[in-house]
Amino acid sequence: MRFLADRSKDKRMTDPIMAINKHIQKAKEEGTLKINATLGMLFDDEGCFLTFPSVKETIDAIPPADKYTYAPVDGGKNYHEAVKSWVFGKERERLEKNFHIGITAAAGGTGAISNTFSNYLDEGEAILAPDIAWVYKRIAAEFGIHTETYPLFDDKNRFHMEALKKKATEIAQKQKKLLLVMNDPCHNPTGYSLRDEEWEELIDHLNKIAEENIPIILLHDIAYLDYDPRGREKSRKAFGRYTAFHENILPIIAFSGSKTFGLYGLRIGAQIALSKKKGEIEAFRHATQVSSRAKWSNAPKIGIALVQELLHDKEKTETFQKELQEAASVLAQRGERFMKKAKEENIPHHPYTGGFFVTVPLDDPEKKAEELKKKGIFVVAKKDLIRIALSAVTPEDIDVLIDELR
Ligand code: PLP
Repeated sequence: MRFLADRSKDKRMTDPIMAINKHIQKAKEEGTLKINATLGMLFDDEGCFLTFPSVKETIDAIPPADKYTYAPVDGGKNYHEAVKSWVFGKERERLEKNFHIGITAAAGGTGAISNTFSNYLDEGEAILAPDIAWVYKRIAAEFGIHTETYPLFDDKNRFHMEALKKKATEIAQKQKKLLLVMNDPCHNPTGYSLRDEEWEELIDHLNKIAEENIPIILLHDIAYLDYDPRGREKSRKAFGRYTAFHENILPIIAFSGSKTFGLYGLRIGAQIALSKKKGEIEAFRHATQVSSRAKWSNAPKIGIALVQELLHDKEKTETFQKELQEAASVLAQRGERFMKKAKEENIPHHPYTGGFFVTVPLDDPEKKAEELKKKGIFVVAKKDLIRIALSAVTPEDIDVLIDELR
């Protein structure tokens, strides 16, 4: 006899990070933990969890009736306004002139991604994502949706635009629809950000596919947008590019408040869709709200209240922006340190421009991770690489890691 449904019977929680946690706990208890470079959360240079004072003060000051109650399923108008201003920055006006915009609150960026997959593809269809990527494959599989991949980098360690374009065309022709996942800037786990010319080339290609009357959903995962070392204004420029999209392309942004506000467990997020077709945005609103209601009912009000409070007050917003800028610069300095030392020591790595992680390609990453584990150093081994969380290590840890990778 089996209780699980057919579709759930083969599910296995094989997340390497979860598996490592047990060993980290044990090393902590035994006093042998030296470096924990596995955590996708930001810690300061002394190794303490980084909290933004303005975020904490704002949450503390919100009355219980405004933060512990139910939120509207879509998050409500004030939340939408705050999210639009924060995400789009100076591009907001231009985008509002060019597009109808729909927003639905979500349980973190994960919720936004999940809702996009489940509403825009049918069972048996496939998303397109790079071979090195966050857990999109697992999220898609939950809805019987497959994942097709392209190699993220070519043999010269450059972004593999040709492979992406080829695969996009193939899927579009076969499926008569394309759902492309772009995690940019500061791709997890490599830290790569597309160059302006690369975005332009990609848009040209997608437009050509779209001209053949094939709908394209571009899921733009911006989880690390606020840690882009190019700064707030430049990071927002990417959204201005949307105006070059053919009308058969529907960009959907997955906004995550986890990294932006340092509130990982609060599940702050939103799906933002932009279309020249009003009907598409209406359809988006209906479908995503029904999914939200069915999956988590409504996003946590505490996060929604925080975003509204913090970002509708100019002074508070500016204070928060300064704190965020400092945090981003701490992370950027770690990135620079790693890159400089890796270059000096000839340690190969995937191209990194910013973000929480760097990746080192290896023939036997499991073996390396095991060796390091014995010394109390924890990294995540993935297929053909190890992932190092710069977000969680001190500058001194970076020197130790570099020594170990030589
Ligand atoms: N996208 C990427 C690339 C991520 O790394 C994460 C979290 O680590 C998310 C989306 C989702 O974040 P959350 O659900 O915490 O908002």
